[in-house]
Amino acid sequence: MTIEIVRCLQDNYAYLVHDPATGETTLIDAPEAAPILAALNRLGWSLSRIYITHHHNDHIGAVPELVEKTGAKVYGAEADAPRLPPLDHAFAPGDTLPGGAEVLHAPGHTIGHVAFHYPDRAALFSADSLMTHGCGRLFEGTPDQMFDTIERFNQLPDQTRILSGHDYATANLAFAAKYAPDPDALAARQAELPVLAEKNLPTTGTTLESERLLNPYLRCHLPEVAKAAGVPGGSARDVLAAIRRQKDNA
Ligand SMILES: [Zn+2]
Repeated sequence: MTIEIVRCLQDNYAYLVHDPATGETTLIDAPEAAPILAALNRLGWSLSRIYITHHHNDHIGAVPELVEKTGAKVYGAEADAPRLPPLDHAFAPGDTLPGGAEVLHAPGHTIGHVAFHYPDRAALFSADSLMTHGCGRLFEGTPDQMFDTIERFNQLPDQTRILSGHDYATANLAFAAKYAPDPDALAARQAELPVLAEKNLPTTGTTLESERLLNPYLRCHLPEVAKAAGVPGGSARDVLAAIRRQKDNA
């Protein structure tokens, strides 16, 4: 299985997941048609399906054009169907989709947000839930929901790659630096990000293991993080809520 990362719009990532054995290709989220069609053309892949993580326009805006031009089938959450483009297949958390993706419930950013986990590929397409060095804004859900979502992901194997919906790594790392990250991991990543930017390489795809050293939302149980968040002795849930609130006001 090959994963192609496609930059879209200002700072979105879409993903093409290609299975050479079957020749099938799945798109995870559809922010913008042109770069996705260009990538398919360059790679010689035809689009079989589109999986939708959540209803925001920068994740579904290109679905109609892509369906028209490729004939791809659209998969989205049954619970969110009224605010998604027309679905060919409605799924629910716990389902396994063609190509082997497991649907994980991931509310917080929106109520209906899902993530797609490919266990064989150790890849988690998390969109705007858990992100590189951060997490998505709580537009609809509660801090408790985001806490449970991130805890669910935290049970996955250490080497699981977190493939999120946006390139926010630099801003997220600057914010994460205030919450007692592992100093060596922080220094290494601070050195790496400008190099990636210079080469126009993606920042997404860090492992769960490395996020546990840097991402404050995976470190809410640590006393030093609680202290940095201004809630010393607070529960991990309180710490997540405090950090997310501080990010919203940053
Ligand atoms: Zn969103």
